[in-house]
Amino acid sequence: MLFETHTHLNAEQFDEDREEVIKRTTDAGVSYILNIGYNRETIPSSIQLAETYPFFYTSVGWHPQDAISCTEEDLVWLRTLASHAKVVAIGEIGLDYYWDTSPKGIQHDIFRKQIRLAKEVNLPIIIHNRDADEDVIRILKEENAEEIGGVMHCFSGDIVLMEQCISLNFSIGIGGPVTFKNRPVLKEVAKVVPLDRLLLETDSPYLAPHPFRGKRNESSYVRLVAEEIARLREMPLEELAHITTQNAKKLFEIK
Ligand SMILES: [Zn+2]
Ligand SMILES: [Zn+2]
Repeated sequence: MLFETHTHLNAEQFDEDREEVIKRTTDAGVSYILNIGYNRETIPSSIQLAETYPFFYTSVGWHPQDAISCTEEDLVWLRTLASHAKVVAIGEIGLDYYWDTSPKGIQHDIFRKQIRLAKEVNLPIIIHNRDADEDVIRILKEENAEEIGGVMHCFSGDIVLMEQCISLNFSIGIGGPVTFKNRPVLKEVAKVVPLDRLLLETDSPYLAPHPFRGKRNESSYVRLVAEEIARLREMPLEELAHITTQNAKKLFEIK
């Protein structure tokens, strides 16, 4: 029983075979799927998936790459959606200095506003951080984000950053890159992260794990992520699956 905590199965890459991909995912032992809605286009289709399938949940938020397009009306919209029964988190939100499609100042502003919104509606946050460790940590501290906590999705830092995130009440989301030979630091993090702070994800359709690296990722591959972490930690896959699923159910308050 696995919990896929970060995927984009509403993406156009799945328009041809979405049903089959979802079937393969449940066949792989995935019992819960959290799909991410992160802008004006993806939020309605993500909610639609969550309304269609009982095992689907959704987040709503504004991605840092799209920060420049986020209006006050959009933030009001997010607040309204937050009370939807299948909306379990605010995200993905954060900072992305790699693509830099929105100016840093605007990214900071939209990030802060959404942390405040999440605190008001009492939902955990899903953090997207690319090349922005220092500013993400600083803003989480300044906004007292530990009151709600959440997950550092697709974590790619070292053990020091992992410990900082945990001390701020955040869990560590690990995906496909943990299976890559050239990611020894991430393997080390996966090995030592406290088990009660570990979540599994794919970030499909991106970042497919070995041996599918470079191809379209899909949520059934979360099993490959789980297998690699179980191997690294020398523990049974079933136990790792059970614990990480309980972690996600607790964080996202799913019965
Ligand atoms: Zn992301
Ligand atoms: Zn994502």
